[in-house]
Amino acid sequence: MAEIKDVKGIGPKSLSLLNKLGIETIEDLVTHYPFRYDILKRGILQETEDEGHIIIDGKVESIPILMRFKAGLNKMNFRFVTPSGVVGVSIFNRAFLKNQLEVGTGITVIGKYDKKKNIITASEIKMGVLSNKEKIEPVYHCTSGLSNKNLSNYINMALLMYGREIPEYIPSEYIEKHQFVNKRTALNIVHNPPNREKLDAAIERLKYEELFSFMFKINYLKREKKLNNKGLNREISKAEIEKFIKGLSFELTTDQVNAVREIVEDLKAPHRMNRLLQGDVGSGKTIVSFIAMYANCLAGYQSALMAPTEILATQHYNNLKELLKNTPYHIELLTGSTPKKEKQQIYEELKNGNIEFIIGTHALIQDEVEYQNLGLVITDEQHRFGVNQRTNLQNKGYMPDILYMSATPIPRTYALTIYGDMDVTFIKERPKGRKPIETYVKQESEIKDVLTMMYNELKQNHQVYVIAPLIEDNENSKDLKSVCQLKEQMQLAFKDKYNIDIIHGKMATAAKDLIMQEFVQNKIQILISTTVIEVGVDVPNATTMVIFDANRFGLSTLHQLRGRVGRGTDASQCILVSDSDTKRLKIMEKVQDGFIISEEDFKLRGHGDLFGTKQSGDMTFKIADLKQDYKILLQAKKDSEEYLKDKETNSSELKKKLIAGILLN
Ligand code: ADP
Ligand code: MG
Repeated sequence: MAEIKDVKGIGPKSLSLLNKLGIETIEDLVTHYPFRYDILKRGILQETEDEGHIIIDGKVESIPILMRFKAGLNKMNFRFVTPSGVVGVSIFNRAFLKNQLEVGTGITVIGKYDKKKNIITASEIKMGVLSNKEKIEPVYHCTSGLSNKNLSNYINMALLMYGREIPEYIPSEYIEKHQFVNKRTALNIVHNPPNREKLDAAIERLKYEELFSFMFKINYLKREKKLNNKGLNREISKAEIEKFIKGLSFELTTDQVNAVREIVEDLKAPHRMNRLLQGDVGSGKTIVSFIAMYANCLAGYQSALMAPTEILATQHYNNLKELLKNTPYHIELLTGSTPKKEKQQIYEELKNGNIEFIIGTHALIQDEVEYQNLGLVITDEQHRFGVNQRTNLQNKGYMPDILYMSATPIPRTYALTIYGDMDVTFIKERPKGRKPIETYVKQESEIKDVLTMMYNELKQNHQVYVIAPLIEDNENSKDLKSVCQLKEQMQLAFKDKYNIDIIHGKMATAAKDLIMQEFVQNKIQILISTTVIEVGVDVPNATTMVIFDANRFGLSTLHQLRGRVGRGTDASQCILVSDSDTKRLKIMEKVQDGFIISEEDFKLRGHGDLFGTKQSGDMTFKIADLKQDYKILLQAKKDSEEYLKDKETNSSELKKKLIAGILLN
């Protein structure tokens, strides 16, 4: 297919600006959808307030008079006839328009109306009059040097030249069934909407197309899994597992026992496990995964546990190592920052089977890593990994059982769609003796209260987390708290009584690990952090979580952060400091259940926060929105299932293309 540089009007400079917007291909360009539409509706002079915003069309009535000022500034004045009367127009710095504004030319003026002087100070002049109803104008994400107008021109030129070549991802029978317009027409409409009805229909069609490909992929992966569902079956001694469980410092909850049972059944069975373990923060998923790994090891296989951050991987490593200390088994930690020599050693021992348990980050699924007999792979906080990453290991020729853990409770209906290819185990019950985490929303002006609440806990030898959105003070967001600034404030407030330190994502891993270790050992009492600690970190003696600028975070994130405390038997509290958005934050005061919070978040913010879209590219959509478009999603799910099953279409180009697209990723 043609490239963007072949589009008339796009030179090297525009090309690099387009690349900056993530636009690499013609398809990217024509699917650079407007993020908003401005509705230009003809205003009426008499009905517009003084200094009010107005959009009005008409004809230029007098030759524009141009005045030039110092520093290259200029101003143009002319008379303008509109359907609701004659009005003066003034516009700054548009001398270049003078030749186009001939008397009698139809234009549309957008600006502010000074009623007494009967003058519109225009912010914009568009050539051409409005149609009798209204004009809908696409607004694009732009970048400096590339205006909305430029983008619109490039997109339209690309559509004109190559519109026929833009691939269609909906099978023709479904285009017919839903009476959709063709792809090129739909694209033309979203970029040049003639009216709302047509625009809505075109958007719906493009959303459907996106969700259809997505669900096709999910369904395809599900089917593939079923087809190659031959897994490992193994003998596992029940008595040995029970002995291991007896050795723990606590008793498992009923939900944990059930989860272990389901997983061990899966391990024993000849089919391949593909299971999601869902449980709220602090519900104790980790121990379940450790037991699963232990069971797998008893049967003579290697286990790998993959965590999204090094801090978390290290924590899991330390905990499991402790549990294994009286066993003959060998456990190692492998992350991006493992020294090269050690890495080589680990690779060697994974290959020759000397290591039974390996814990790490993405480093575990790099190409260099080979296993002797990988039997079980567990991914913690699985929503942070994409669908593709998940299949990565399988492609390496291993047939391990797979367990995903997620603390991000996804409303059940969505889970069924998105994780439609998995079995799900829920852990609902929290470990015994846990008290609810009292949550308070406080204003900035109540900082004294906040400090007192912190002090009351610190006095009892408890520890405190403090969260801020920024690392350092930032000129651009002066009103936001930073980790460094809070450290100074806390030091001022608590003098030398307590050790205060900071941790954030920009620190070297070794430094982070050291700080985390010191916090675990209670050498640090107040740990100030960005959201790097969001995921999974466990320090039972920490009883207080203070989150500054809490309004900056989604409820699910706040819930995850709150879940860092309340992990021991002492009462815990979470303080949300914010002057704005308090109504939303107050939901946190009342609700402890992560599932309900996720529903609320879903309603308020859509899926973004929920699925951690930043991390999993395959959950981002260009035009569809899982929250709003659930109905379309269900339809796309149904259709794509039916289409996948339909043998007659197996030789169709489209089906081949859709499948190739999945395998390519
Ligand atoms: P999450 O489900 O969020 O990953 P963790 O597995 O980190 O939660 O467990 C949170 C804390 O609860 C840990 O300190 C863990 O040791 C403890 N824990 C887990 N299960 C139990 C239990 N049955 N009784 C008491 N404490 C438990
Ligand atoms: Mg966890």
